[in-house]
Amino acid sequence: MGKLDGRVVIVTGAARGQGEQEARLFTAEGARVVMTDVLDDQGEELAKELGALYVHLDVGREDDWRAAVTRAKETYGRIDGLVNNAGILRFNALLDTPLEEFLQVVQVNQVGCFLGIRTVAPEIAAAGGGTIVNTASYTAVTGMAAVGSYAATKHAVLGLTRVAALELAPSGIRVNAVCPGAVDTPMSNPARLDPDADPEEMSRALDELYRKLVPLGRIGRPEEVARLALFLSCDDSAYITGQPFVIDGGWLAGVSVV
Ligand code: NAD
Repeated sequence: MGKLDGRVVIVTGAARGQGEQEARLFTAEGARVVMTDVLDDQGEELAKELGALYVHLDVGREDDWRAAVTRAKETYGRIDGLVNNAGILRFNALLDTPLEEFLQVVQVNQVGCFLGIRTVAPEIAAAGGGTIVNTASYTAVTGMAAVGSYAATKHAVLGLTRVAALELAPSGIRVNAVCPGAVDTPMSNPARLDPDADPEEMSRALDELYRKLVPLGRIGRPEEVARLALFLSCDDSAYITGQPFVIDGGWLAGVSVV
């Protein structure tokens, strides 16, 4: 028996990184996954491999959300869960951040999460209840220099998570957030997109970089975040809603002076 047998779950940003691992794990646990992204070739290929449905969905576009929900219902008849995973990161000091860049990050990370909740929650309610997992970040619960627009949107994702948990509980929908620290995906490790690079060598270099920074001594793996998203999407977390779950190797626990 899988932990998600019979459930239909939409995952955004599912073509690579954490979203890819969520699509893989959820499928292995018996879910019918609706994989969505703006990287259509990559998404289609992975969906074919997993026997999942792929739908183009720019999370910042309201009409894309409506079309994706329609495709999901036409194909599977219902929607039981949503993982708002898609996100972008831009590095800049606050004083150097152009308004356009700030708003671009808001549109994907914050508006995308809002539109996902607003469009999909009524469908989950109609199916008798289910789960929403929002992807926030370590930077949703603490500051980090040079990622001001990103940190602002991830703090907002936590606010949305808490309000949605309160408003949607009567419809049987639980809403929680994952807050990853550094995870070895193209976002934290753009060299992963370089076809000439050796991914294992890059991972070792990142582990070395995070050895001193993070108590558990290495960067996180996207598979580990997927397991947390699974926990929050299945009945193992039946009495949990409105909470942020930090998964960061102990990074947020504090600093060591020795
Ligand atoms: P990633 O860059 O590998 O994956 C992000 C995915 O989102 C990509 O497939 C991308 O195409 C998709 N995407 C980007 N813009 C989109 C849009 N407008 N509409 C739909 N899809 C879009 O990075 P990742 O690490 O897998 O990121 C997944 C989530 O985890 C993001 O929300 C990110 O902010 C969050 N996160 C990542 C880390 C990390 O260190 N990697 C840490 C904390 C939080």
